[in-house]
Amino acid sequence: ILRDAIFRKQHNIHVSGYNVPSPLQSFDELKSRYNCPSYLLRNLKELGFKLPTPIQRQAIPVLLDGRECFACAPTGSGKTLAFVCPMFMKLKLMTKNLLRNADFSKFPCDIISTPLRLRLAIKKKKIDLSRVEYLVLDESDKLFEPELFKQIDSVLKAFSNPSIIRSLFCATLPDFVEDRARELMHDAVRVIVGRNLN
Ligand code: ADP
Ligand code: MG
Repeated sequence: ILRDAIFRKQHNIHVSGYNVPSPLQSFDELKSRYNCPSYLLRNLKELGFKLPTPIQRQAIPVLLDGRECFACAPTGSGKTLAFVCPMFMKLKLMTKNLLRNADFSKFPCDIISTPLRLRLAIKKKKIDLSRVEYLVLDESDKLFEPELFKQIDSVLKAFSNPSIIRSLFCATLPDFVEDRARELMHDAVRVIVGRNLN
């Protein structure tokens, strides 16, 4: 525990919540701790990703432990991989670079929508989000801006799976994001990475 605290301090990682898992020392640890498929580690190496960034070091184990995560780290700090890596490990598949050789004809479809359209589709029962297992709200500092909030809020209610794992990623931490995080998540681990160190 002390080792984790020192390591977090070195990487400017601040955590709160109970039982926060140890940060990753390396990507290889994904294999020893979480049985990550080797091809994922190979693909990361091929992309030139040598070490996990601070947000990746902490958020990936949190999500792999099945915990909800409220994560804030600066723009460019690698938040995308922090939430897709656990998803890929769950799916045991990989897209584009990371999902090399995957058979895309076997993938369920993607849905790209504005919040209002999505709200309409939910209302008309054209889409069922009640079985979604993993929800990531990226750019949540933009998503929860007061102008968008009402639209987003009604969409979020449609994700009604009681065992859904929610996570919230942002680059800045305005009060309205903190408020929404508190409403949306119950025992989330909070991971904040400072701007200066890496
Ligand atoms: P953010 O969402 O925090 O703004 P991105 O996820 O867009 O950041 O990542 C920023 C850039 O860093 C991308 O080009 C990505 O490929 C690269 N990157 C992510 N993780 C690593 C890593 N561990 N090592 C090297 N580069 C990385
Ligand atoms: Mg991003």
